[in-house]
Amino acid sequence: AKRNGGGNQVMFDPRMVAGAREQVDLLRDLRRAIQHHELELYYQPKVHAPSGQITGAEALMRWHHPQRGMVGPHIFIPLAEKFGLINALGNWLIEDVCKQIRTWRDGGLRMRVAINLSVHQLRQEDLVDRIVDALHRHRVEPGLLTCEITESAAMEDTRTTLQVIERLSAAGVHLSIDDFGTGYSSLSYLRQLAAEELKIDRSFVMDLESSADARAIVDAVVKLAQALGLKVVAEGVETEAQQKILRTLGCDELQGFLFAKPMSAKALTLWAIKDEG
Ligand code: C2E
Ligand code: CA
Ligand code: CA
Ligand code: CA
Repeated sequence: AKRNGGGNQVMFDPRMVAGAREQVDLLRDLRRAIQHHELELYYQPKVHAPSGQITGAEALMRWHHPQRGMVGPHIFIPLAEKFGLINALGNWLIEDVCKQIRTWRDGGLRMRVAINLSVHQLRQEDLVDRIVDALHRHRVEPGLLTCEITESAAMEDTRTTLQVIERLSAAGVHLSIDDFGTGYSSLSYLRQLAAEELKIDRSFVMDLESSADARAIVDAVVKLAQALGLKVVAEGVETEAQQKILRTLGCDELQGFLFAKPMSAKALTLWAIKDEG
């Protein structure tokens, strides 16, 4: 088992699902998990780069497996996608996030939340309707929700994705291009997207201190984003030195273990209140 972004819990080891038998077991368990509330959303704060104040949070899925312990999304999301469970997972996510934003709102906290949407979810005909419906039922302002779509997903099926993105944007939901720098989006394509945010991938942040190339890439991304009127968020910030460089380069928001690991909704509530006071 290895340590990962779930607080200090020990994450389930991916090497254990290599076998077909293991996959079948895990798949059966995942079906049950969706029905039995074994899934939980953790939230990792994003902070304003100059001030360090919380600007919102990213929802990250966790699975508390009764025998295996904490299973990370890098294991079960691909499994869910491969075996047709991703829409069930996605629907649960949208519902749970809206409920949580409402709970925060009722407690006087206007929390902006970002969710991750995979390319499989973007191909779902009724995705936008489901999101809009959930926002409406829970009386959540669409502007409090951001959908993070990876750069590669945004590129994969241009027409469908553009439609989904446009409809979400028209509904007032914000769009963020995740893992930016790892795909190959063209400038003209970026301009067409109704996104308001670019998230620089952790791989560039990791190399900032040691690599002039990484600094040059982040510098270029920030300038590109500014030219296109997009906000820039850096993910995976772990050190003070990285923070300093990212501030100097003009990143708008930062996210990473330096500030906080993903945590339960309850823990984030306390974190946000402490931050305000
Ligand atoms: P991502 O969207 O790029 O999310 C960021 C990942 O980096 C998270 O891992 C987070 O815990 C981790 N992280 C954040 N800060 C740091 C840091 O400073 N250092 C390091 N080493 N890691 C950091 P996590 O939660 O295991 O999620 C992995 C991926 O699974 C996510 O990557 C996302 O693509 C996917 N995922 C998570 N939740 C969902 C979901 O609800 N739906 C979908 N479709 N995908 C999800
Ligand atoms: Ca993300
Ligand atoms: Ca990311
Ligand atoms: Ca990433």
